[in-house]
Amino acid sequence: MAVKDPYEVLGVARGANADEIKSAYRRLARRHHPDVNPGDPSAEEKFKEVGEAYSILSDPLKRARFDQYGTTDDMPSDPFFGGGGGGNLNDLFDMFFGNMAGGGAPRGRRGRDGDDIRSDVELTLNEVIHGVRKEIEVTRMAECNSCHGTGVEGGGQPDTCPTCRGQGAVASVRNTFLGQVRTTSPCPTCGGTGTQIKNPCHECHGRMVVQETATVVVNIPPGVESGATMQVPGQGSDGVGEGRQGDLYVVLHVKEDSRFDRRGQTLISRLNISFAQAALGDQLQIEGVDETVDVNIAAGTQPGTQITVKGAGLPPLHGGRRGDMIVLVQVKVPTRLSEAEVKLIRELAELSGDSVPKGEDRGGILGGLFGKKK
Ligand SMILES: [Zn+2]
Ligand SMILES: [Zn+2]
Repeated sequence: MAVKDPYEVLGVARGANADEIKSAYRRLARRHHPDVNPGDPSAEEKFKEVGEAYSILSDPLKRARFDQYGTTDDMPSDPFFGGGGGGNLNDLFDMFFGNMAGGGAPRGRRGRDGDDIRSDVELTLNEVIHGVRKEIEVTRMAECNSCHGTGVEGGGQPDTCPTCRGQGAVASVRNTFLGQVRTTSPCPTCGGTGTQIKNPCHECHGRMVVQETATVVVNIPPGVESGATMQVPGQGSDGVGEGRQGDLYVVLHVKEDSRFDRRGQTLISRLNISFAQAALGDQLQIEGVDETVDVNIAAGTQPGTQITVKGAGLPPLHGGRRGDMIVLVQVKVPTRLSEAEVKLIRELAELSGDSVPKGEDRGGILGGLFGKKK
């Protein structure tokens, strides 16, 4: 049976992470649940479809298989394509050949590498300033406890793969337009493990690994930028046999803070002051990211003035002297004036020799203000 594109069914992107997939599934499952739509066969159909899609995308093995082949059906029991874990960190093709046929891996090594997994983490600006310890929940493939990672029911050693005679790899010659290319590729029968399992473990079905959810503690240093990625070695999926442990990649996202614009280590904030404050000067305290910030308004400050507050910005990566905050000054012009205020402003204007609007002129500026008063 052909499977509908599970990404399409759940309405998620190809690179969607486990949380996005889970929440899309929950939303759709709730909407199409037969209990909510009694007597509607199309809802039941849709509900089943959503469940099938989720069963593929929530299982790193099935997901990787679907990504690779566009189906999860009729696959040989091919444990090699273990786990996608979410994200596009690994091109499976590269991983396949990069790890098995060179790429630094020792030749003749039997086993398969654990997948790298990705997790997305949101940070506040305050966390960027001080750094933060985060507990991250990850879904990964871990050694099966039931068979102790052998894949054989009840433990015990698997047999040697007859195709590769336990080598885990087979050599093949391909004819390409460049001539004959001899390549060594993972054994298609055993997926590179060099073993054959006649009595597969009921828990892992011979894959030697099972899906687990684990909490990984990550110390995020100060000063990180949105989009930065931290590699946490060995916290990805377990490798099998002599395969290496996968890594966890933590992708950092700094939350927007409406109070500030960030330019590297510099924070830009906006400050509205009154005409009196601008003219006479003032000492103000404004909100910084982690503490209040003293701002000194000089007498005669003009609209658009930028006041630099040293050390109120963000630290460089891994900490150190903090950058500055630039306070962009705006001068408020009052929009509603009392009669007394108008009188004073007129007096002020006369004193300073500015042109003064005529008080009697109802069509002028004052007309707008007093037009309705009798
Ligand atoms: Zn097992
Ligand atoms: Zn083999």
